[in-house]
Amino acid sequence: GFEMSYDEKNIFAKIIRGELPAEKIFENDKVLAFMDIMPRSPGHLLVIPKSSARNILDIDDENLCEVIKVVKKLAIASKKAMNATGVTIQQFSEADGGQEVFHLHFHIIPRYTGKPMNRPGQMVKDMTVLSMQANKIKAELGV
Ligand code: AMP
Repeated sequence: GFEMSYDEKNIFAKIIRGELPAEKIFENDKVLAFMDIMPRSPGHLLVIPKSSARNILDIDDENLCEVIKVVKKLAIASKKAMNATGVTIQQFSEADGGQEVFHLHFHIIPRYTGKPMNRPGQMVKDMTVLSMQANKIKAELGV
C-alpha cells in the first residue's frame, strides 16, 4: 500500500519547536504532554513523542515505549488531580481512523460518574480554566 509521510508543518511539530503555544504538563528529551484545547472532558490532555512519527503505524518501538510510560504516569496524575473516577485513552491513526493532526498523540481523558464526553470541536473559551487544570495536574506530578 502507499505510505503517508510525516509533515514537519503539522501543528504539534510547531508546538514541539516552540512556534505555537501550549499549556504544557510534562516534558523530557523524548516526550511532551499538554492540554487539549478542545477538551472532550475536563482535564483532557495529549501525550506526544518529540520524534517525527505520524501515528502508531510508523513510530519506532523505543520512542513508543517512552510515550506510553508517560501516558500511564499522566493517566494516574490527571485522574487524581481532577478528582475523576475513570480515564479514557484514545489514539487515532490516519484520517479514516479519526486522526486530524498527523503527529502521533495519545489522548488522556479523565471521566466522571454519569458524565458523557463533550462533542468534538468545542474550543475552550477561557484559557485560564485550562491553565488552572494544568497547574493542578502538574502539582500532582510534583513538577
Ligand atoms: P485527533 O487527530 O483526531 O486525535 O484530534 C486532534 C486533537 O488535537 C483534538 O482533540 C484537538 O482538540 C487537539 N488540538 C488541535 N490543535 C491543538 C492545539 N493547538 N493545542 C492543543 N490541542 C490541539
